Amino acid sequence: MGNLRGKVALVTGSSRGIGRGIACRLARDGALVAVHYSANEQAGKETVRQIEAAGADAFLVHAELGAPEGVSALFTQLEAELLTRTGAAHLDILVNNAAHAGFTGAMPEEVTPEMFDRHIAVNAKAPFYLTLRALASMPTGGRIINISSGMTRTSLPSQICYAMSKGAMEQITQQLALHIAPRGITINTVAPGVTNNGDPVFDDPATVAEMSQWSAFNRVGEVSDIADVVAFVASEDARWITGSYIDASGGTLL
Ligand code: NDP
Repeated sequence: MGNLRGKVALVTGSSRGIGRGIACRLARDGALVAVHYSANEQAGKETVRQIEAAGADAFLVHAELGAPEGVSALFTQLEAELLTRTGAAHLDILVNNAAHAGFTGAMPEEVTPEMFDRHIAVNAKAPFYLTLRALASMPTGGRIINISSGMTRTSLPSQICYAMSKGAMEQITQQLALHIAPRGITINTVAPGVTNNGDPVFDDPATVAEMSQWSAFNRVGEVSDIADVVAFVASEDARWITGSYIDASGGTLL
């Protein structure tokens, strides 16, 4: 498509799963993509390899986003690499995709302070400070895209920690949209439903059949289902959309 030619994007958590799909799609659309990983360096390298094999551009950055210095460490690498490659250090597109899923199944009474803090640190605090850092130099036409979850619109007590952290992330979208609109920058939430991220659970036909029933289309989502939505929101065509919660769950919330 090429509609992102000349743009620079950072996709957090793009070593695998949905993030990898988003990174590959934005690169295919012409963006130079910073592929971020935390624990899986090989997987991060594989994302970069796939992008380069398709004739597009990407590079790797590393940060543990649950650590206090994570955001700063990420931007130090990012800005150094961008200065070398482009002569400028700003981002046009930030996709806050990395998340601590930690599906512990802990009921509300069983949630420990450590579980609570970990979810909030990775899923809410890091995206907030990544967003502020990116906005410091983001030009007109910039895009912030927060990957949340349909889980914030349902009631599943055993996932309360994860849902609370994603709910907080959605408030980054809600509260910043008006604040940054005068600069011509949009911020939106994209909320997937169950999506095949390559986890072994998706190799079990019985489990997949059960999860499929939750969507209106009787299947689980594919990474490309989400990446295509994000690519649209990142594009100039989505200039009139900001502060939105975009349900990308295949009708799971109906
Ligand atoms: P995966 O579990 O497949 O990948 C998670 C990514 O986040 C990896 O790249 C991982 O890096 C990175 N990451 C995890 N923890 C940290 C951390 N502490 N610091 C930095 N990076 C970290 O995720 P999915 O593809 O399933 O999910 C992507 C997004 O979509 C998430 O925001 C998730 O909440 C959301 N979502 C997913 C759904 C699904 O069914 N898959 C449903 C609804 C929402 P590394 O590989 O280096 O560990």
